[in-house]
Amino acid sequence: MEPSDKQDLEILILFWCFLIFKIQNYMKKEQTSTPKNSTGKIEIIRHSAAHVLAAAVLEMFPEAKFGTGPAIENGFYYDIDLPRTLIPEDLEILEEKMKAIIKANHPFERAEASAAEAKENFEKLGQIYKVELISELEKSGEQISIYKSGHFVDLCSGPHLDSTGEIPIGAFKLTKISGAYWKADEKNKQMQRIYGVAFETKDALKEYLHIMEEAEKRDHRKIGKELDLFSFHPEAPGMPFFHPKGTIIYNELKNFWLEAQKEFEYSNVLCPSMLDVAIWKKSGHWDHYKDDMYFVSVDENKQFGLRPMDCPGAILIYNNSLKSYRDLPLRYAEPGLITRREKSGQLGGLLRVQQFTQDDAHIFIREDQIEEEIKKVIQLVDKMYKPFGLEYKAFLSTRPDDFMGEARVWEKAEQDLKKILQEIYGDNYGLKEKDGAFYGPKIDFQLKDAIGRTWQCATIQLDFQMPLKFDCRYSDKDGQEKNPVLIHRTILGSFERFMGILIEHYAGAFPVWLSPIQAMIVPVSEEKFGAYAEEVREKLAASGVRVKIDATAESLGKRIRNAEKEKIPYMLVVGEKEMESQSVAVRPRGTKDQTAMKVDEFVKKITGEIQEKK
Ligand SMILES: [Zn+2]
Ligand SMILES: [Zn+2]
Repeated sequence: MEPSDKQDLEILILFWCFLIFKIQNYMKKEQTSTPKNSTGKIEIIRHSAAHVLAAAVLEMFPEAKFGTGPAIENGFYYDIDLPRTLIPEDLEILEEKMKAIIKANHPFERAEASAAEAKENFEKLGQIYKVELISELEKSGEQISIYKSGHFVDLCSGPHLDSTGEIPIGAFKLTKISGAYWKADEKNKQMQRIYGVAFETKDALKEYLHIMEEAEKRDHRKIGKELDLFSFHPEAPGMPFFHPKGTIIYNELKNFWLEAQKEFEYSNVLCPSMLDVAIWKKSGHWDHYKDDMYFVSVDENKQFGLRPMDCPGAILIYNNSLKSYRDLPLRYAEPGLITRREKSGQLGGLLRVQQFTQDDAHIFIREDQIEEEIKKVIQLVDKMYKPFGLEYKAFLSTRPDDFMGEARVWEKAEQDLKKILQEIYGDNYGLKEKDGAFYGPKIDFQLKDAIGRTWQCATIQLDFQMPLKFDCRYSDKDGQEKNPVLIHRTILGSFERFMGILIEHYAGAFPVWLSPIQAMIVPVSEEKFGAYAEEVREKLAASGVRVKIDATAESLGKRIRNAEKEKIPYMLVVGEKEMESQSVAVRPRGTKDQTAMKVDEFVKKITGEIQEKK
């Protein structure tokens, strides 16, 4: 720190102290100990660490202007407007300062102020973003609460730990710096976001850092580039362009999905990807989802919404003719192209995109078929996750605050779903309170990948509302017309996102059935064995194997290394001996062993593996 900065800091600290003194004078001081049961302990640790980070930043940059600093998954961040761009070395300095603040064991003290008073004081401190937040709180009539720990005062609703000393000192780390627009709006000023992770124990931090190191190596954006699978372009932000090799994986997943559903008697449908806004108003998406949608105006009188979900299309098909009780369940599966608005800061390779294809289905059933059908969908989930070696856990999401329909119907449905989950998984399922869709409760499935990270993919949602809104009917046994129940479900989530997850799960080394190139033939000499290599290639290709010959001028060793880099499951080396005996020297990915095999024998082996999804 420069001497002049130090002087500024002292002046600032004096001013902070004066402010705190003032605040304490006019505010009724509340309890210093805060309730901790509504939020988990670890979230409170993480959020408290965000305050400590801000305090450390303030020591380093007295002119820092603070945005917001919430707890997030695994840690916390703080958005700060700073006089200069941070460098990685700054994080080490900040970590040391944080440790000193933790050791100083400052209590977190809560106080309340009127909006006008709080605004006046944050204005004096030049904390323009806090002033803006107070103005918003003022409009909504919310209480303004302020937390002080040491010299740092923040606008915050809490809860926090009792004091900074309760933050486990060796169990946090500052991890990265990135840009973030104020309020995630590109029109606003770009701030710097400092990320940190925090855990309850040193060991938990160590394990997390190990997983992250592994995850970085497996980053699907990096591997996607190396293996030439897909790219993104500013001409269509957040919308993936699949290259030929990526499209092979995409199509394999889609075919697998179509195939797996056959046993459960699904019908396939295809619907337009934009619909008149009138239908989005009717479905409730306009009220609940408008800000996340794209709209297209044809002329002044006609506006279309790009579909953020597939449901209305399936419903229009259902309503095209009157159904009988014997027609149900009716299972309409659609690989539906979905478009949703995402803020640019929230996009992340294939994992968070603006346009994607859901492996969707809408199942119309009678009320007496709920249990059986939900079980069938769970069987399908099981069947579809098995080939990938992915463990999963089911979660029941219950009624949200902005629910539609009758509470009684919701309760009954939640009870039914609980019963099914209990029957299948015993107590080994989770509960997500208030996380249901606005039209009904749902079961979500969380996958665990090769390095222990979890991903939410499949979802089964029960819906009593939409069939009523759209007046879907069937004529029952007794001749009366009734409303069916609708199940919305996806298994993979979307082909794009699932592909991103798989790339990281396999670290790019896909099983044979998914590999864009399944076998690479490497002739010892192109001149002498090129013709034989072509013969082998034709045989494999005729059996449906994706096979290529590496006839480049590189040395044999280099060509083998290239195939390894491309993560091709099998290399087939052919030379004099192989040509004479109509065989290939098979070298599986990741090994140095070569096994001689008759060509026909290898064809049988690889096609068998493809068939069995190995
Ligand atoms: Zn706070
Ligand atoms: Zn739907």
